[in-house]
Amino acid sequence: MSFEGNLCYCGSGKTYEECCNKYFSLLHISPRKIEESYLFEWFSKYSEPVKTTFIKKTKKYLYQISEYLDAIIGVYYEQGYPKSIVSDVYDEGFTGLKNSAINVLLGSTHCLAYGLFIPHGVLLRSFLEICFTIHIVTEDIKKMEQFEKGELSTKKVLHKIKKIMPEFITDFYYYLTANFAHCGPFHQALLMPRACYPENYTIMVGLNNLALSTLIYHITLELAYLNDISSPQFWIKEGPTYTETSSILDWQYLFYEDVVADFPPDEKKFYMKYSRKHVKPKMKKR
Ligand SMILES: [Zn+2]
Repeated sequence: MSFEGNLCYCGSGKTYEECCNKYFSLLHISPRKIEESYLFEWFSKYSEPVKTTFIKKTKKYLYQISEYLDAIIGVYYEQGYPKSIVSDVYDEGFTGLKNSAINVLLGSTHCLAYGLFIPHGVLLRSFLEICFTIHIVTEDIKKMEQFEKGELSTKKVLHKIKKIMPEFITDFYYYLTANFAHCGPFHQALLMPRACYPENYTIMVGLNNLALSTLIYHITLELAYLNDISSPQFWIKEGPTYTETSSILDWQYLFYEDVVADFPPDEKKFYMKYSRKHVKPKMKKR
């Protein structure tokens, strides 16, 4: 195909000779029109329709999560490091953590909308680690220094988390680790990497994962700012001790029931195990 005098297909507005010619001649390729090119064809054939279908199917649930996240951000976003008596320098690091958490959560939702189920879970696992870090650095200013130097160790952080955070939070972390962190051919993962189309199972698990993660973010931030808020939802100020009286936990439970009813898995497969234990916040006595 000759491009002489024609505009380059990449859309730059230059002629092919002035634009992409130098790359394609190195590749020994005569390029086709952009819409005939494999990736672009794939985007228009599968990717966007998958996202559109996902949003159409799940609007009610995404809306709830979105509003809930907005409410959390509304209360906690403007506040700096909870122990700012020490120095303002920690505000930046703490705000960075909160920003990362929100971005990772949005990224995970984005992946799910495109049917990228495994990356969705991988991101949520990182999200939980950010929540754990928020807790650890709030509890102890020395940990804030360690965090800023990149010296926090997963093992020690988890050890501390287990002492104070409700058990369902670490259970959820282990669930994400077991199902999403290792999914290559060398691992016996429960969940095989899913195809792109948002099937019921993917939607059911994904939405519940997102709702639970948002709730965990709220629980984490409330604990971080416990001394600054008048009526905590999850914690009792003296202690602090986690209680299970919040109506938000009922919301999460109702959300789970509705999602499971709306998106029952089409066919039973061995990896389609999603226990209520993973999504029902409950703390066992330690
Ligand atoms: Zn070009």
